[in-house]
Amino acid sequence: MKAAVLHEVNKPLAIEEVSINKPAAREVLVRTSYAGLCHSDLHFIEGLYPHPLPVVLGHESAGVVAEVGSEVTYVKKGDHVITCLSVFCGTCENCTTGRPTLCTNADVKLPPGVSRRLSLAGKQLHTFANLSSYAEQMLVHENAVPLDRAALIGCAVITGYGAVVNTAKVTAGESVAIIGCGGVGMAAVNGAAIAGAGRIIAVDTNPVKLQLAAKLGATDLIDPKEGDPVQRIKDLTKGGVQHAIECLGTKTTAEQAFQMLAVGGTATIVGMVPFGQKLELHGADFLRERRIQGSSMGSNRFRVDMPRLVDFYMQRKLHLDDWISDVIPLAAINDGFSNMKAGKVVRSVIDFSR
Ligand code: ZN
Ligand code: ZN
Repeated sequence: MKAAVLHEVNKPLAIEEVSINKPAAREVLVRTSYAGLCHSDLHFIEGLYPHPLPVVLGHESAGVVAEVGSEVTYVKKGDHVITCLSVFCGTCENCTTGRPTLCTNADVKLPPGVSRRLSLAGKQLHTFANLSSYAEQMLVHENAVPLDRAALIGCAVITGYGAVVNTAKVTAGESVAIIGCGGVGMAAVNGAAIAGAGRIIAVDTNPVKLQLAAKLGATDLIDPKEGDPVQRIKDLTKGGVQHAIECLGTKTTAEQAFQMLAVGGTATIVGMVPFGQKLELHGADFLRERRIQGSSMGSNRFRVDMPRLVDFYMQRKLHLDDWISDVIPLAAINDGFSNMKAGKVVRSVIDFSR
């Protein structure tokens, strides 16, 4: 099958013929239909996060089950599925206490470099995030497959929506600022609207993305190029927001997320701050119970959350169609990442039938 292979950081991905194993007992072989280009993939292409190479990236995808292992019961051949990198064992301490996205079972949630599911010319080809969806087929654990279709739900949507609803637990009427309106930020804006947030303040330097955020439920739009976003948000809200959701992953915006909080407010960091970078916060701000926390894949319980998100989409509450800006063939994957870096697109999706 064809796959986009990263051999060296900061080099274009090479479209190559690679091999994939038959499913083991609890594995599922999925024919990839669509795969989204996510900023996290770009972080690995640019070497901001380390990963053993060569590797097939991609983790936001949907497809059709082609074959299942002998012990698989959750899906069968022909089922339409969304994939999620939050593969879980279901039995470890975190899984059984309601935090499956933090599963610690390394036999199911394989750490980087362990998987032998893919090979290139007889040599190990690394699997990314237990998925590797920039390939015509994916071999995954049974617990990486929730119901239904729609690739974007598998990463951007669950990450942004989940950060607001599951991690930050935004309730009706609360004020929320969302920093960065790419795919994840857009999902956070949409999630805040679904949660019934009062004021939803979208922050981005791209006017096109801000207009889209307004369509998805943002009540106020802030372009940081027009002045200090922290001060403007404090003025708008008379003291700060109850929630700041950071979806860019830079030191500056993560610090700003904390600075723009009202007393008792919580900053939730979703973006991937470059590996090794540290944040500086004003210690006295903690005296009034301001908090800062991380959010991993929207603290998802994906077999519950994803069917709900599909329902929200069917009810026209989740405006998924609005943030797919480009549908491309696998061969155009490098152009897709260039457009992402240039800030031209909210989300590009690979269509494997093209
Ligand atoms: Zn992603
Ligand atoms: Zn577990």
